[in-house]
Amino acid sequence: MNEPLNPPPEKPAGSRELSLCPCKSRETYAACCQPFHLGRAKPETALQLMRSRYSAYFFRFIDYLVSTTHPDTREPDLKTRLEETIHETNWRFLTIVTTSKGGADDKVGKVEFVAEYFESGQPHDLHERSRFKRYKGAWKYLDAKG
Ligand SMILES: [Zn+2]
Repeated sequence: MNEPLNPPPEKPAGSRELSLCPCKSRETYAACCQPFHLGRAKPETALQLMRSRYSAYFFRFIDYLVSTTHPDTREPDLKTRLEETIHETNWRFLTIVTTSKGGADDKVGKVEFVAEYFESGQPHDLHERSRFKRYKGAWKYLDAKG
């Protein structure tokens, strides 16, 4: 069922920092999404948040996914649902199609992307238009249209 496509969590410290970010930015993880995952920095743009959420799905950082979902659309059982389903999916690639607004001076933003993944050994594409909205100054994921 679960092929070891993602790095196991027991890998020695430091190995992730040197590897390329799973969000396919071509930056190292340490220079890209890791500071957001560790809470050392906040995404300045909706696109940065979107990429860091993709990477959080990749590494299965459920708490990050919950905390970056906007309170207006966050289902009370989101964490439980992620815990039940997140291991079924192995994320393979991310392509950003377009972005609109979502900049340092905006309050809302949209990111259209295609995320490729395997589920039960079968390849799938998720083509989604995600909406992002600030909450107390920080970018949050609001909702999506397929
Ligand atoms: Zn990244």
